[in-house]
Amino acid sequence: MSFSAVTKNELARVVGGKDCCRLAELAALIKMDGSVQISGQKKLSLNIVTENAAVARKIFKLLKNLFGLSTEILVRRRVRLRKNNVYLVRIPSQPGIEEIFKALGIGEAGAAIAEEGINKELIARDCCRKAYLRGAFLGGGSVNNPEGTYHLEIITDNFKHAQELAELMQSFNLPARVSPRKNWYVVYLKGSEQIVECLNHMGAHAAQLDFENARIYKDMRNQVNRLVNCETANLNKTVNAAVRQLENIKYLADTIGLEKLPKPLREAAELRLQHPDASLKELGELWDPPIGKSGVNHRMRKLERLAERVRSRKVDHGFKES
Ligand SMILES: [Zn+2]
Repeated sequence: MSFSAVTKNELARVVGGKDCCRLAELAALIKMDGSVQISGQKKLSLNIVTENAAVARKIFKLLKNLFGLSTEILVRRRVRLRKNNVYLVRIPSQPGIEEIFKALGIGEAGAAIAEEGINKELIARDCCRKAYLRGAFLGGGSVNNPEGTYHLEIITDNFKHAQELAELMQSFNLPARVSPRKNWYVVYLKGSEQIVECLNHMGAHAAQLDFENARIYKDMRNQVNRLVNCETANLNKTVNAAVRQLENIKYLADTIGLEKLPKPLREAAELRLQHPDASLKELGELWDPPIGKSGVNHRMRKLERLAERVRSRKVDHGFKES
């Protein structure tokens, strides 16, 4: 199961403790996935469609619990494309159905679910805003597996609703942004910490923990990789330097002879020839008395400069010296 599905299944089981929060969550679910059907003589019924069984059960329970009207769930198996189930939670036309529309702030005749923004009364309190966010996520949200790119989104075809969802998230210091995608509007979060916060506000605590663990593991792996790369680079640098030093020393031995060098340089050259793989620090410890890394480095540079001088002289004087 995808991380998104696991998160939704967890959130589908989170039930707000207060009626105000349940109403806010139900309003969000209806806003995202609901439609009002009008049949002859202004008979209204309410349909809410979802592909997630746990979400369908939640909508059913919330409706029953808050309004106690006759409610039904229908399951349809899709035959084309993704062969998944589609659940329809339906409140058939009946006396008292207007109460639902009134409570949810859906306009007269309910026709305008898609166009209106969020009823401000429903999201006046922090607890209700969190519940609304949970409902909106259950209705049209998804979140990437934290092992990949960090991304959480809620999509809606209603631009005003998208903007208000972003504002609602911003009221929790989540820097949500809105961007268009074909005929849809995507409200999204990118930062790992913000996604963790958002999961926390919605009440997906298990998903939040999984997310944090995956993030910590990923960060650590990246850090280790960086460290290994850095050490490899340093090692390569050391090896390249040693190879160059050996070339210079062998060149000096072949041209002017190591015995002609001043004692400190001769010592350095001989030690390097005897210990081609040693680091400068290790070489320094072989001296009697030992000398520091910078002392060794200083001598190696002198040898290098000397070798360069000899080389350039040979070029200047052609074959005269050989
Ligand atoms: Zn509340």
